[in-house]
Amino acid sequence: MPTIRQLDPHVADLIAAGEVVERPASVVKELMENAIDAGANAITVEIAHGGMALIRVTDDGCGIAPDQCQTAFLRHATSKISSEYDLEAIGTLGFRGEALAAIAAVSRVELLTNQGQGLGTALSLEGGELVEQEEAGCPKGTTMLVRDLFYNTPARLKFMKKDSAEGAAVFAVVQRLALSHPELSVKFIRDGKQELLTPGDGQLKSAIYAVLGRDLALGFLPVKGSGEHMEISGFVSLPTCCRGSRSYQHFFVNGRYIKSRVMMAALEEAYRNQKMVGKFPGCVLHLTVRPNTVDVNVHPTKTEVKFQNEQQVFSTVYHGVLAALNGDQSRPQAVVKSVLPRQDTVTPNQTSLHDMLTPTVAQPKTTPSPFRRVTPLDIPTVTEKKVAPSSSFISRPVVQRTVVEEKPAQARAAVEPKQIPPTVAEEKPKAAALVAAPPAPVAEEKPAPAPQVEKPVVAEVPTPVVEPEPVPVEEPQEPWVVRGELFHTYIMVEQGDKVVLIDKHAAHERVNFDRLKAQDYRPMVQELLIPITITPGPQERQVLLDGQVVLEGFGFQLEEFGAGSIAVRAVPDYLETGDVEPTLLELAKKLRLTGWADPTAARDEVMHTMACKAAIKGGQRNDPQELERVAQKVMAGEVKYCPHGRPVAIELTRGELERQFKRA
Ligand code: ADP
Ligand code: MG
Repeated sequence: MPTIRQLDPHVADLIAAGEVVERPASVVKELMENAIDAGANAITVEIAHGGMALIRVTDDGCGIAPDQCQTAFLRHATSKISSEYDLEAIGTLGFRGEALAAIAAVSRVELLTNQGQGLGTALSLEGGELVEQEEAGCPKGTTMLVRDLFYNTPARLKFMKKDSAEGAAVFAVVQRLALSHPELSVKFIRDGKQELLTPGDGQLKSAIYAVLGRDLALGFLPVKGSGEHMEISGFVSLPTCCRGSRSYQHFFVNGRYIKSRVMMAALEEAYRNQKMVGKFPGCVLHLTVRPNTVDVNVHPTKTEVKFQNEQQVFSTVYHGVLAALNGDQSRPQAVVKSVLPRQDTVTPNQTSLHDMLTPTVAQPKTTPSPFRRVTPLDIPTVTEKKVAPSSSFISRPVVQRTVVEEKPAQARAAVEPKQIPPTVAEEKPKAAALVAAPPAPVAEEKPAPAPQVEKPVVAEVPTPVVEPEPVPVEEPQEPWVVRGELFHTYIMVEQGDKVVLIDKHAAHERVNFDRLKAQDYRPMVQELLIPITITPGPQERQVLLDGQVVLEGFGFQLEEFGAGSIAVRAVPDYLETGDVEPTLLELAKKLRLTGWADPTAARDEVMHTMACKAAIKGGQRNDPQELERVAQKVMAGEVKYCPHGRPVAIELTRGELERQFKRA
């Protein structure tokens, strides 16, 4: 048996050091946290060669007394906890009195510190051993200089990445600390070049501006919300300002940067169907919880935490972010570059200018065929008999239209719940309800509005038949009027001192989508006497048959039919006959690879496809009333982004136009 011996203290220190000091970034984190604990208002971090050659952290904090300087470098030396009663502080704040000892053990350290009265202290150590200590003149505060990290632990040195990678990791640490302490002015200098300076004015927005840049900061919406025993605050990016990676997501719990799957899932769930696929929202979100409800891993370099109540955290973040997104009424501004004079002449069939200036009312309301049928997705669902529209390209007799009552519930039950935390399933319907357009009775029940007459839209909503819910107090809306259409694609609305251009397809698609997503949505079903037969490819056919139950919830009744075909026996009534086949084929194509394995995603895909297919199309002529109705939804702020995250409307101000014409 080999003899058991106690480790040499120096070896023990090196082992302990390895746990605390992994790389330059962990040194910087510890030194910055010490500076914050010392009450600093300004911290400067300077590195050379990714921090491997040099790390210098300077603060204007309280400084260290001359007789304490050596003590600070001893293991388990801390001024922050003294008894076992303070032990909880280890869990919450990570004070272990180990950082300086660990850093000093694997580098050459110089300390320069002054408490603000008289001379200060200069002290140097090598591999944790004192080299010298002397009096020194220096300003109040502390400078820690760490050179030649891991010079005495070659094994560790080998694991270091390139200077650029280590430097980037240091920068990330500095940025996070700057974002979690807007009251601190943080400066970062890499190889002699200043890369960051936050103002330290206490405003999170200023810190974000400095750290994440102007572009993102301007596209940030404030978040403020609370849940049971917790609060969420900070900023999230506009759906149109989402980025190609998650690197702009910053989560903090009780002021500490953390990585949290739950918070990330909640954030992204709030953007569901509001942003483009493959884009990620950016955020700086601070969650405040009771310290004893979060388990901060005691290892100081770890950033993962465990929440006692993950569902609460999910729901607090989710609702906080969703409220911020829904509360935003701003629209993207049209970017107008300086105009070059053009020599254009108006040709006889160039109608756009005429169209622009002619109020939509001038178009004959009874024009039969060039207009696409008004899509009645947002019309109250009632049982009625109806003949098939004659414009259909597959004509067929229609026997009956019924409101589906029971089946969607089953269909929904069959596909819920979702894969992310258990709360999602419960929370989702609420989310849908929040986003959904109220089933307001519209145009069909009232005479067509005269677009030329300027009127407050709010006052026009007809009295609902059902007892209304208490109406939230809204700011009175400025009157607006539809001035026409551009390229049969953009509805032009004048409101006060601005023009709003609405992408009619995108806006209508959103209206449809919200309606489909609404909890109370029940499809109006048209049963077909003669079914429509479609012949998709074998894979597509299987996907459609696999999704029968879900599709039934949306009004489609599919049946296997011989020779690789499918018979469609019933369809949702708002889809034009001619759109049934393209809708199902497109859906099958989209779901061919993923199938129905992720029920929520698959359902979203169904709703996306249907919303898009049922929407009015850009480039097509539409009934003016239909345009008016779409405009109404947009102007009331009910729709802002299409289900793919593109804005449905942009604004052009009178001031901007006047600048272009050199009037102002
Ligand atoms: P801990 O931070 O867990 O207490 P450290 O090893 O990081 O342990 O620091 C040891 C002690 O040195 C601290 O408790 C503090 O008293 C002192 N100290 C370290 N850095 C600074 C600083 N920048 N300003 C003032 N005091 C400091
Ligand atoms: Mg410390």
